[in-house]
Amino acid sequence: MTVVAIVEDEPKLAALLKDYLTSDGFDTRLYDNGTEALNGLLQSPVDFVLLDLMLPGTDGTEICRELRKTSNVPIIMLTAKADEIDRLLGLEIGADDYICKPFSPREVVARVKAVLRRASDTPVKADTGTDFELNENAATLRIGDKECSLTSVELNLLKILYDNPGRIFNRNQIMTRIYNDNRIVSDRTIDSHVKKLRQKIEALKPEQQYIHSVYGIGYKFEMA
Ligand code: CA
Repeated sequence: MTVVAIVEDEPKLAALLKDYLTSDGFDTRLYDNGTEALNGLLQSPVDFVLLDLMLPGTDGTEICRELRKTSNVPIIMLTAKADEIDRLLGLEIGADDYICKPFSPREVVARVKAVLRRASDTPVKADTGTDFELNENAATLRIGDKECSLTSVELNLLKILYDNPGRIFNRNQIMTRIYNDNRIVSDRTIDSHVKKLRQKIEALKPEQQYIHSVYGIGYKFEMA
């Protein structure tokens, strides 16, 4: 069973989310304090984290940043601060998605499912013609005998480019395809995800570049 951690200090809201998630077949674990949540999640990982931004103890951004050091667990931030969104989804913090308060619990359940689908419900695709192998189920990239894990945003980003070798995508096209909804993030956020993805690829195979910048336009994937 998929275990969703609900890190939320408003008891009524936490109980409501728990009810909706439970009736949709999820298992839940509640935390109403940020410090306890971080310790608990590091000691005993879950499959998904719903993370309030403002919490007693460690705040949501710090929890997210700490979890990201060792884990690719999907994280949706719950926030009333619309101006924080870019930062939350950027590399500095690394959330997979966000939901603005106030929200309906039904929407939260739908978004949890959408993120889980993006992260895992696509077939394994291996390109046997080269040593470059993108495993969508495991969210891993293998080049030769080296492997790294990818966040769901990195996986989506790489998949868009990799599935269309040679095609140039501008940042807008990348944005709409990564997030599947109508969100606006800055070009810098896209660039920072590309940069991080390149660093991961470079660690696997330093001598070859796969993601190429096309000056003034965007990015493309090419094996050479
Ligand atoms: Ca709060």
